[in-house]
Amino acid sequence: MIELVCASANPDKVAEMAEVLAGAAVLLPRPPGMGEVAEDAESLEGNARLKALAVCRFAGAPALADDTGLEVDALGGAPGVRSARYAGPDASYAANLARLLSDLRDVAPPQRSARFRTVAMVCYPDGSEVMAEGAVAGAITTEPRGAGGFGYDPVFAPVEAGGLTFSELGPAAKNAISHRGRALRALLELLQR
Ligand code: IMP
Repeated sequence: MIELVCASANPDKVAEMAEVLAGAAVLLPRPPGMGEVAEDAESLEGNARLKALAVCRFAGAPALADDTGLEVDALGGAPGVRSARYAGPDASYAANLARLLSDLRDVAPPQRSARFRTVAMVCYPDGSEVMAEGAVAGAITTEPRGAGGFGYDPVFAPVEAGGLTFSELGPAAKNAISHRGRALRALLELLQR
């Protein structure tokens, strides 16, 4: 069984990561004494590396990080790498989602296409790294729907889901088609080679 220290402190992401990797890899908790890692790179890959490398060095063990962005075509790819702080530093999920719906208020459904992209990366103490990417295409709904998931899930309707949002799908169905599920399964394949 592969053992990886989880570089994410976000319990919503950690729960999904653990579920996708179950049976193949064990996620060890982020070292409690470790401070925040500034996610100030200009790309998902850069931010994933910042997080995985910092935790790998602190723990002295292989560490896994993921970084995700929501790219909305009508907004020129925003919020993208700034998805977590779209409505400002330390913005809540609700505030980010409200800003997104507000920015898209004059955009008709056919023009509300978007995608989630995740970069998942493992950094090793010897300086090597393994990286994989996952993406899912969909559309931003005009209002939030569903109670599950987190972040932008209530307004993201993946093309494969017949109009349902990630929040309406439930965790197993979300993981089966999500950006994070795809990135982690691709990463796992590389790690098992
Ligand atoms: P992070 O930088 O990877 O933590 O993710 C950036 C932001 O994207 C998070 O704060 C969430 O608001 C959002 N996000 C990440 N993953 C998901 C997801 O699977 N569903 C909905 N929103 C997500």
